[in-house]
Amino acid sequence: MKEPLLISACLLGENCKYNGGNNRMEAVDALRQRYALIPVCPECQGGLPPPRTPAERTGDRVLTQDGRDVTAEYRRGAELALRAAQDAGCTKALLKERSPSCGSGQIYDGSFTHTQVAGDGVAAELLKKHGLTIYGETQIDQLLR
Ligand code: SF4
Repeated sequence: MKEPLLISACLLGENCKYNGGNNRMEAVDALRQRYALIPVCPECQGGLPPPRTPAERTGDRVLTQDGRDVTAEYRRGAELALRAAQDAGCTKALLKERSPSCGSGQIYDGSFTHTQVAGDGVAAELLKKHGLTIYGETQIDQLLR
């Protein structure tokens, strides 16, 4: 049985980014050979399908670029990602870096100026709290060793 790995759906090529695009990685096939991939898009699943207005974390809240509070949608999506991880028995997740949902360790600072600060996206934070180890796409080598 392959080990389950939670993964940001946009990294697999799903067009779930805010602008309707994706962040497909070259190593998808290698990952599929090694892991049972469990794709999630917390923003879509929380009720914000593409296209959507970009949003960033500001403390505990998430605001769109035009000032709408979407914290509840982000939290709902995070809970659904956690449930998918737990149902599949995932202990690891490969999540898109810097996203206000999926980012781990570094995210944008809420000013919409591409300024990064230390912090986690809403889903990554919840998954970490529940014991998952989070990897970003630049750390994929650690998952393929
Ligand atoms: Fe990708 Fe996560 Fe953003 Fe969805 S919420 S588009 S999976 S980074």
